[in-house]
Amino acid sequence: MINKNEQKEIDLAKIANLCKRRGFIFQSSEIFGGLSSVWDYGPLGVELKKNIKDEWWKRNIYQRNDIEGLDASILMNQDVWKASGHLTNFADLLVDCKKCKKRFRSDKLDKPNCPDCGGELTQPRKFNLMFKTGTSSVEGQGQDIYLRPETAQGIFVNFSNVLTSSRRKLPFGIAQIGKAFRNEITTGNFTFRSREFEQMEIEYFVDPDQADKSYEYWLHERLNWYLDLGISKDNLKLRQHKKDELAHYARNCHDIEYLFPFGWSELEGIANRGDYDLRQHAKASGKELCYFDAAKKEKVVPYVIEPSGGVDRAFLAFLIDSYNEEKVKSEKRVFLKLHKKLAPIKAAVLPLLKNRPEIIETAKRLHKDIMSSYKVGYDDTASIGRLYRRQDEIGTLYCVTVDVQSLDDKKVTVRDRDTMQQVRIDMSNLKNYLDDNLKQ
Ligand code: ATP
Repeated sequence: MINKNEQKEIDLAKIANLCKRRGFIFQSSEIFGGLSSVWDYGPLGVELKKNIKDEWWKRNIYQRNDIEGLDASILMNQDVWKASGHLTNFADLLVDCKKCKKRFRSDKLDKPNCPDCGGELTQPRKFNLMFKTGTSSVEGQGQDIYLRPETAQGIFVNFSNVLTSSRRKLPFGIAQIGKAFRNEITTGNFTFRSREFEQMEIEYFVDPDQADKSYEYWLHERLNWYLDLGISKDNLKLRQHKKDELAHYARNCHDIEYLFPFGWSELEGIANRGDYDLRQHAKASGKELCYFDAAKKEKVVPYVIEPSGGVDRAFLAFLIDSYNEEKVKSEKRVFLKLHKKLAPIKAAVLPLLKNRPEIIETAKRLHKDIMSSYKVGYDDTASIGRLYRRQDEIGTLYCVTVDVQSLDDKKVTVRDRDTMQQVRIDMSNLKNYLDDNLKQ
């Protein structure tokens, strides 16, 4: 089995094609010509995305006792963005090509001329990435408001609400999953850099003395999450930001990078943000944002360790990493070797012959029996070879086939996605079989 993406001959066009054909991802507003770098998740895409978010939520909120969840609004008082620095600093430096008029981020260019046509570039200008909108019940008297460019600020401004209502002590975290919006200049690479995307962020509040230790812990915890969900070790790495790359408030920052077909790129950032955010919001709002340390009998402004990942980038990485092609009896087999917790469909019930009503009826009954426990599929619209190929290509873990013999012996054939091995089991045992194989 080939592991490394470099050797896999995998390109993004192949993945984008599969996504569209099989209903993972569609271009937004496609029938109207689309909207650049905005995407819709189709029937299988929503399942995969939901599974990714559920795994993150379980790991960080249910399976530990020091993080609370939050769902803050997308729209916030514009003073939040003044205090956080986004209104002045959340900008990319832009250059335009004088010849072909294309726009580029100057920090992403390694040559002084246009990478497309070689033309001369303008001087860099600041371009704020926040989408502006407004409240306006009276024409002309509204307030400018912004679609949040990250979920983190909703957490900082709720620091005291969560601390007081949950009676937490340091260290503790607040986690949230939600949409964020950025008017990105350089787009492309499928969903990697989108204008509307989802983030999974934790702000972990610690005593300043413990910040370095906690930072180290989170680097490995977050890396392990991707590894535990099946991403190949060879395709993941931690990269520390250089001094000149660090945001002015950040004391340390690493990116978890994945080897995408277009090269190593950021999946998630983990930063030690010091006490910058809480101090900024306290100063601007006039409200105290700190923690009273009863043992030391003093107020502490906690430091913040922030693991901040993107759902859509994780989605793309899981998809690319699980994509496999192999030759089976001189035919190409494409299968997504998605982790069982992520696979959008866990099992598919497939009748071997569609012109035998008893077979169809048995298959539909079996499907109904297991669909309250798992997301399962049913398909009787093609020959069995074709049905297997379809399920392999979307990462379905088990194909359950009902055949003529099943009517007599009350057994079905269960085929494993990865090994293609088949076992014959009692129909009455199907639910237990899936429980045993899916629940560990
Ligand atoms: P980049 O350098 O790639 O623009 P960033 O450093 O600006 O990313 P952060 O602000 O650290 O990104 O955001 C945290 C995470 O949110 C990123 O690691 C990424 O997974 C996700 N993310 C950020 N911008 C986008 C985007 N435009 N499209 C999809 N995901 C994004």
